[in-house]
Amino acid sequence: GRASKEAFQRARNVFIDGTTRVTIERDPIPRYMERGEGAYFVDLDGRRFLDLNGNFTTLIHGHRFAPVIDAVTRQLQSGTCFASPTLAEIRLAELICGRVPGVETIRFVNTGSEAVMFAIKAARAFTGRSAIAKIEGAYHGAYDWVEVSQGSTPSNWGQAAAPAAVPYYHGMPASVLSEVVLLRFNDVELVERQIATHAAHLAAIVFDPMPSRAGLIAPTAEFISAIQRTAKQHGVLVIADEVLSFRQGYEGASARYGLTPDLFTFGKIIGGGLPIGAIAGSREIMSVFDASAGKPALPQGGTFSANPLSMVAGFVSMTALDRAAFDHLERLGDRLREQLMAAIARHHAPLSVSGAASLFRIHPKAILPRDFREATPTAVQAHVMKELGRTFAENGIVLPSGAAACLSTPMTTADTDHVASVFDDFLARRS
Ligand code: PMP
Repeated sequence: GRASKEAFQRARNVFIDGTTRVTIERDPIPRYMERGEGAYFVDLDGRRFLDLNGNFTTLIHGHRFAPVIDAVTRQLQSGTCFASPTLAEIRLAELICGRVPGVETIRFVNTGSEAVMFAIKAARAFTGRSAIAKIEGAYHGAYDWVEVSQGSTPSNWGQAAAPAAVPYYHGMPASVLSEVVLLRFNDVELVERQIATHAAHLAAIVFDPMPSRAGLIAPTAEFISAIQRTAKQHGVLVIADEVLSFRQGYEGASARYGLTPDLFTFGKIIGGGLPIGAIAGSREIMSVFDASAGKPALPQGGTFSANPLSMVAGFVSMTALDRAAFDHLERLGDRLREQLMAAIARHHAPLSVSGAASLFRIHPKAILPRDFREATPTAVQAHVMKELGRTFAENGIVLPSGAAACLSTPMTTADTDHVASVFDDFLARRS
């Protein structure tokens, strides 16, 4: 489109690579968004797209959700004094503490990355140890320690996840590597051994109950209980990073998969589409933040933390997410995944589909639940994935590459049928 091309030219003068965000699209020209409506957005050139990115999965009600517009407008009109506490933050905190098992107390920050950073600091403060463990390939945001081996995308599937040394462009000191233990997903025996070996200096295991970039594959029940049991035995905390996976159920992802973590990190949907993050957990562990009565506490602040715009947007958005809304998303996701898998079987395609509830991902080849990295795509499969992305875009569907795609509550059956039929046509043409 012409308008997008012109915008991109201007952008290249002021942004080093023409964008101020990580470009998740492989398009030579980004799609500049003009407006959103429900499950769709329209770009500068008037093209309409079914939005399966949803602002990086934050828009669980789709674009322009009326209660959010009303609440934020009213809050703006009455002023935004966020250096003092407001009732808005108490309401959202009460909602989350009342809903998520294991969450007694919470602190709000601005992003998921910040939440993970403070959760790791809290675990260090509580245990007096410094190292952390994480699942190879899992993404937890922009804090040094969790940036080691983050993101396993079609371009690096099958490669060694851990870099031999941290190169300059990762921007972190090499010493960070010695503080990170990379765990193999769904490998019970290895994980038990790894935790035991490193226990003396291990503060926490950062664990996403359904890691998106590491395949969007559910952990086995045995793996969950091995993590839980071994961590407890060695005094290592378990941090559930639910920044993305919270959207899998009314009570969140840990409740869905039977994990009882010591700390939680939240973000994305709990802000109703506005910037947010949160650290939460039991009173006992969260007491590291307790500065009352002059106690020495872990410093935690932030200019925009708990700003009332994000608080009211999150509150009305989460209030509307009742059990029925999650049931709707569960059915939409099941239906779409079944349709995609049926098309794969029909055309004997070398692809597979993973995910649960409102999250899904299309992979090359069958996924091996034990070790996702074994699913190395051949050059042909990698090419198929690229072509698929282009076909979706040409048919008005935005599917983020390398990450989870999501469904939102305003999505009708017809919207998901469109995705399935574009996929089926694509496979039919190729077979
Ligand atoms: N943890 C997980 C599991 C995430 O998916 C993300 C963001 N995609 C983050 C942390 C970081 O959140 P943010 O982008 O808000 O910093």
